Amino acid sequence: MENLTLEDIIGALRNPPSDARKKVIAKAYDFAVKAHAGQKRNSGEEYSQHPIAVAKILAEIGMGGKTIAAGLLHDVPEDTTITLEEVEKNFGSEIAAMVDGVTKLGKIKLRGSHEEYFLENLRKMILAMASDIRVVIIKLADRLHNMQTLEFNPPEKQLRIARETMEVFAPIANRLGMGEMKSQLQDLSFRFLDEKNYFLVKDLEEKHYKEKEKNVIQAIKEIEFEMKKEGITIIETNGRAKSIYSLFLKLQKHDMDITRIYDLAAVRIIVQEVADCYETLGIVHKKYRPMIGRIKDYISLPKPNGYQSIHTTVFGPDGKIIEVQIRTQKMHSEAEFGIAAHWIYSEKKKKNWKDFLFKTKKGVPEKEIEWVKQLREWQNEIGRDDEEFMQSLQIDFFKNHIFAFTPQGDIIELPEEATPVDFAYAIHGEIGNHAVGAKIDGKMVPLDHYIRNGEVVEILTSKDRKNPNQDWLKFVKTSAAKSHIRRELKKITAANS
Ligand code: MN
Repeated sequence: MENLTLEDIIGALRNPPSDARKKVIAKAYDFAVKAHAGQKRNSGEEYSQHPIAVAKILAEIGMGGKTIAAGLLHDVPEDTTITLEEVEKNFGSEIAAMVDGVTKLGKIKLRGSHEEYFLENLRKMILAMASDIRVVIIKLADRLHNMQTLEFNPPEKQLRIARETMEVFAPIANRLGMGEMKSQLQDLSFRFLDEKNYFLVKDLEEKHYKEKEKNVIQAIKEIEFEMKKEGITIIETNGRAKSIYSLFLKLQKHDMDITRIYDLAAVRIIVQEVADCYETLGIVHKKYRPMIGRIKDYISLPKPNGYQSIHTTVFGPDGKIIEVQIRTQKMHSEAEFGIAAHWIYSEKKKKNWKDFLFKTKKGVPEKEIEWVKQLREWQNEIGRDDEEFMQSLQIDFFKNHIFAFTPQGDIIELPEEATPVDFAYAIHGEIGNHAVGAKIDGKMVPLDHYIRNGEVVEILTSKDRKNPNQDWLKFVKTSAAKSHIRRELKKITAANS
């Protein structure tokens, strides 16, 4: 197994690294290696190889120094004796908040086979925890590396993790426009969920792609020659095979007949300007006869997740069918890295997605509005109460609701300014009735304390407490808590009279 080091992370950075960036990454690297010293993964390698691999993925997709540092530190508070406070002392509040967010995301159990419950939890997870979208991106990188090393886990765990990856994390990556991340997560999950079909499709693809490969190489040569003749600047050309899972889905729609899959082999041409895309399309069609009805202009009409490109299917060299994809450099980055592409172009943009949501009217850059649209569309897809949700999103979703977690990772939805007593009754009437104290993120708090979004609340109960306290009615916010307390108090009055 390869042994990753700091140099691998630095070498993977997409932007030329400033000294400040190198410094924060190096510092987090040393900190993480020291914190995890002596710990091993199931694969037998040093535990620190995991956060280092996560940081390398983050560097590859173009994230900045702080996000990479948070990626290096993401398992420190959870799995070592070093606390979040110490991380904050050493790295400041911004990095510590990201680490905390990733830790909390990890605690959420997306349990339940019931689909509705599952999606509901997913929706809450996104809203509750993703006040900083970078947290979700770190979580995706974390999941990607865990999938790459899943084989070292027991079979039941493999299945559970693979299913969750396929149903939750790959769709999230897709919605964030992270095509490369989505494909990798899907292919890795597919292998564990349906090994037979995975290898069937993989073998089928390898065989057929090999046959087409020389046509692809020939087509690239011929197209490049024509483009140079016309004076169009070529940024990059390459050939690519379809991802295994997406090919499987397509095969299912076409009676598993691979000869009917036209985009099995594709030529990708990356140019500078949008105008170059259309000019290149003309060149390709002049050289190779296009298939009728197979020209898709996702530049004029982007896909819902923002994907832009021109696709055309042509009879290439030797009359072999190939797909040609034409796009600009910027479109390419966004197709591969999605929302993360923004960090490639700019470090200074707003990173808080609540800012994206609520400042859309005040001249926020176009792409960020696009992102809000994506989020809403996504919510539409996974939410059952679409309209209601859309409305609350517009009013100010976060002002009215908070999401808190049980120590087991279950999500409890509460109104703002809800207290541990509300939380206790939201779990169970008996827990409310016997509540004597509460801990938030491990620290004791009074029962009338306001719970904040994302906090982990632990309710302490005692058999010695026989009834709820009348005074609780003065501060509880939820009707569930109020009615429970009143009912119990009425019982006592009835018993005493
Ligand atoms: Mn991890």
